[in-house]
Order: sequence, then structure tokens, then C-alpha cells
Amino acid sequence: MNKLEFRFGSALSFSFDIQHADSISLARVGTINTPHGPIQTPAFIPVGTKATVKSVLPESMKDLGAQALLSNAYHLYLQPGPDVLDEAGGLAKFMNWPGPTFTDSGGFQVLSLGVGFKKVLAMDAQTTRHDDVIAGNKDRLAHVDDEGVTFKSHLDGSMHRFTPEVSMQVQHQIGADIMFAFDECTTLHNTRPYQELAMERTYAWAIRCLDEHKRLTQERVGKPYQALFGVIQGAQYEDLRKKAATDLGSMESNGQSFDGFGIGGALDKGQLGTIVSWVNEILPENKPRHLLGIGAPEDLFVGVENGCDTFDCVLASRIARTSAVYTMEGRFNLSNSRFKRDFTPIDSECDCYTCTHYTRAYMHHVFRGKEILSATLATIHNERFIVRLVDQMRQALLDGNFADMKADFLGRYLHRSGQARD
Ligand SMILES: [Zn+2]
Repeated sequence: MNKLEFRFGSALSFSFDIQHADSISLARVGTINTPHGPIQTPAFIPVGTKATVKSVLPESMKDLGAQALLSNAYHLYLQPGPDVLDEAGGLAKFMNWPGPTFTDSGGFQVLSLGVGFKKVLAMDAQTTRHDDVIAGNKDRLAHVDDEGVTFKSHLDGSMHRFTPEVSMQVQHQIGADIMFAFDECTTLHNTRPYQELAMERTYAWAIRCLDEHKRLTQERVGKPYQALFGVIQGAQYEDLRKKAATDLGSMESNGQSFDGFGIGGALDKGQLGTIVSWVNEILPENKPRHLLGIGAPEDLFVGVENGCDTFDCVLASRIARTSAVYTMEGRFNLSNSRFKRDFTPIDSECDCYTCTHYTRAYMHHVFRGKEILSATLATIHNERFIVRLVDQMRQALLDGNFADMKADFLGRYLHRSGQARD
């Protein structure tokens, strides 16, 4: 491994250049230029929630091709505190990551507390009548009003309040190159009237984020420019999504507009392409679009062909720690006994450190033995698999054979995944 070198770009500003636009889909190939370096798009951005990709060194993330990392403003606000990151010189320097960084606004995490942290509601969205429903055995930990969200820390039970202004202050202190506006993130289980109310709030909060962002940018003289992305909500409703894209796409307050956009909120996977295309047909073409929290291989194809430039998801590392790996032959679990004497790599076509040095039998052994190394090696493989897959989509777009590449990949990946029992 080479020593990490910080390669700050010459410009302290932010820009997006499109090199190629696909003639038959909304896909495009471009470069996002940030003060901490460029991101060639489409690109998958691995998640280091608490300023670390769990179990993996930044050198390894760089070696496997990650161009940028995304951390979580909510978690870093609670610990160690945004003032610590500010004093350290910003998120990238703090975590020894020599490239661009993103932070999400904390809206998703804070609002998740309101419906039961990390719980999925076992309800049918079509029959939901009430919005004040929470997961079983969970206290409601967050309350939303028009000004912001009051929530209880999941760490120590202390009470906190996020407003659009607080979220901007926290994200400026954390110092990522790309930040997201504070939005109200709903679920598919909220009623239509509530989705409308949440959109009105998100609209008002977006203006407040732009104003506070401008104020902080002027106040924090000499800091690298931080770009602000507006977040498009609207759940599964065409009119709401299109209205959000129209409103935020053209939003300007005191001369400040959004540098790019995140597509977030409740996304019904069966409708992912449709929802994303509603939004991307309206958003300004010359600004980057990030699809929040999407990272399964089949979904990344849908996102790219419908005009998204960057993606983030915790899935690749989270499932790696449970022994689940992506391969060209589909997804499977290394702890399955059929791998005990399998001395082939996890994926014979993968060029990652794990696949070039270790066998499935060894991976099976370290998972069965609950060795810490299992998480490191499996995470390196999964992150490489997803990063490389999106890089291959980029190349296929440039070569004009995206449709063939997609058909080849999904034909193999989904066929084998469908057969998998584990
Ligand atoms: Zn690999």
C-alpha cells in the first residue's frame, strides 16, 4: 500500500462537467470537481458513518477504487461533536481520507427515531390511516414541528434539537465537500396528507438551509467551498415528486441556489426507475444528482440509466460483516458449510486484495471462528465489487454498450441469486 497523499485540487470551488450524455437514456458521464479532488461519475460512494468505514483502513478504501466517502452528520454531531472535526481541519483530514467527502444532513437518522430506530413498520401503506404509528416496543424518540425536530440521543438519552440552521452549522463544522439540506424524511407508511405537509416543510427548510449556508460560507473565510445539495422528497407520488423537483431545482434565495440534488425519502424499489426519472427529467441538467441510500447492484443500473450520478449505501459493508458477499454468480453467505474446502477466491473475476490473496475456505474459517479479520476482508471485497461495477457502467456508457453490459451482468447475477438458498 502506498502512503496516502492529500491531493487538494487547485480550485477551492465546486463544479460539475458532463463529458457524455447517453442518447437512449437519461444516463450521463461526468466529473464532479471538489476542493479535495475530482469524482468521476457515475460513482458509488462508500459509507463511513462515523468517519470510518467499519473495519477497513482508508488506504484500503483508496486501493479498492473509492473516490469519495460519505459520513453521517447526526452520528458525528453526537460523537465526537462537530467542533472536534472543525478543530481537526475537517472530516477528510480527521479520518485520514485523502479525497472528497459527503455528509448527509441527519434528517433521515433523526426522523428514523420517530418511527422506531432501524425498525420497519409491519403495515400496509395502502391502508395506513394514522401517521402517529411507531414500531412495537419502541418509544417515540423524535418529534417534528415546523421549526425543526426535537430528538433523544440513542447514545445517552439526552435531548437535542435540529433545525435547518443547526444542520447547516453542524455540516459546515464537519467540513465535507458535499452536504445535504435538512429535510423531513417520511416513510411509505405515512398518509398522503402527511406527505404533502412534509413536502411543504422540506420546501421551507430548503430556503432556510440556503440562507444559513450562504451566511456560514461568508463567515468562514478561507475554508474550502462546501457544496449544498437540496433533497427531493415526495414518496411514491408523481405530482409531489415533480413539484419538489421543480421547486428545489429552480430555488434561489439571496442569490444562492443548490449546487446539486439528492433524491431521497421513501422509495418503493419496484418503482425506483419511474420515480427517479420523474425527478431527473425536471432537475437542471448541469447539476449533479445523488441517489440517497441505494446500493444493490440491480438498483444501481436503474439509478444510472435514469440520470443519477452518485450513490451511497451502507449495504455493502453491513452485509459483509454477516458473511454475505456479492459476486458475478450472485450473492451468497461464506459461512455456509459448502465453502469449508473451497479453495477458490470469493469471485474469480474480482481484482480486490481479498480475492487475490484468500480463498473461500479461509473466509469460511474466519467467519466461523468469529475472527475480526473476516469483516475486514469481506468488506474490502464487497466495496470493491460495487465501486467497480459502477465504474464499469461509466466505461460502458463511454463505449456505447451500456445496455449489453447491463444485460450480461444481470443475466448472470440475478439468475444465480435466484437459485441461491443461502
Ligand atoms: Zn474481491
